[in-house]
Amino acid sequence: MSAAMPDKITMGAGGALAVSDNPILPFIEGDGTGVDIWPAAKLVMDAAAKKHGKTIEWREVLAGQKAFDNTGSWLPDETVETFKEYLIGIKGPLTTPIGGGIRSLNVALRQLLDLYVCLRPVKWYEGVPSPVKHPEKVDMVIFRENTEDIYAGLEFEEGSAEALRLLDMLAEFGGKWAEIRRDSGLGLKPISITGSKRLIRAAIVYAIEHDRPSVTMVHKGNIQKFTEGAFTKWGYELVREEFSDQAVGWDDCGGKPGDKVLVKDNIADITLQQVLTRPEDFDVIATTNLNGDYLSDALAAQVGGIGIAPGANINYVTGHGIFEATHGTAPKYAGQDKVNPGSVLLSGVMMFRHLGWAAAADDIERAMSATIADKIVTYDFARQMEGATEVKCSEFASAIVDRL
Ligand code: NAP
Repeated sequence: MSAAMPDKITMGAGGALAVSDNPILPFIEGDGTGVDIWPAAKLVMDAAAKKHGKTIEWREVLAGQKAFDNTGSWLPDETVETFKEYLIGIKGPLTTPIGGGIRSLNVALRQLLDLYVCLRPVKWYEGVPSPVKHPEKVDMVIFRENTEDIYAGLEFEEGSAEALRLLDMLAEFGGKWAEIRRDSGLGLKPISITGSKRLIRAAIVYAIEHDRPSVTMVHKGNIQKFTEGAFTKWGYELVREEFSDQAVGWDDCGGKPGDKVLVKDNIADITLQQVLTRPEDFDVIATTNLNGDYLSDALAAQVGGIGIAPGANINYVTGHGIFEATHGTAPKYAGQDKVNPGSVLLSGVMMFRHLGWAAAADDIERAMSATIADKIVTYDFARQMEGATEVKCSEFASAIVDRL
């Protein structure tokens, strides 16, 4: 394909992305510190791509405050349409509008594109300050279900006509259903076969493709049998139905999977202990929405925290994916060229891997590690490291480019 003609990424036959050396990638700069971290991350991504003979045609789309100021809409239709058309994109943090009917722009984007996997790799880079003794043992990839669970927003306020009506309906079942206190707010937790299996399928495929030894389904099935428990049951079913050649459930092999991927399960509360006490036991994690929310932030803290944790929201069937900084807009630092661009940059690294650009992704990781090992870091790491040289956001990016 011609270097002069940028191309649209398409979903090829067999569910693999077709990516040229000159793809068009939409991006949302992001509000607040987006003006600082986006140019820094872009500098590094462009340099790494160029080193491997690739050129990205970045296409800006608007969302958040910048969109509202320019168009009067927090999430213009054009933005959603562009992500739909070009499949893969990247975004900085967005201000959550107060009032105005939008709960969160991030949630809206996930729902509009049905991005059912929230992917959060958690691994430590040498030199990054960490509160634990052996952060190098942490190397996990979390697949968090992104569309169901209590995040469906199915709640009725205490005392509302709807809540009282639902209480009356539930009381007809008698017993414990009739005993729910009348001054309760009510929430519904839907967990479906469809939502669970497509999430767990993505996690198992990832483990197979990336030579990961295990997938752990993290759940609270001891208490919530027909939602969290069912999630796990359906996961084991899926292994037997679709992956019998490449993966095996714990009970079907007595914990001895041979050369197959071992699929096991763990209760959520004990998992939050064990990821601290024996992180080496965990590899790929597949979990429901709320558990995944807690787990991904708790784990991110072990390997350097919010300034460096990347993420992505992906639909592996349609090919849509938005890679993103996981922190917020940090408004108090906006425009100061101060904060760590690591989160959005490493989400770019994830995006490169997703596009099949592994060599360029490896280069960025190596160069960023070397920069941190040289103790050239932004304020957030500098305040936790002895003898560090604190640099600006843009200087950190330039130092990475120097080491590419
Ligand atoms: P936040 O923006 O994530 O900031 C909280 C703290 O995290 C900052 O004060 C700073 O800690 C640290 N931090 C954030 N980004 C950093 C970076 N790049 N490098 C180093 N440290 C960083 O959370 P918030 O203040 O609760 O939320 C602000 C706005 O962002 C709200 O409108 C919220 O709705 C929105 N938000 C958006 C997203 C998203 O778009 N994905 C996610 C969360 C929140 P120190 O003060 O210790 O330096």
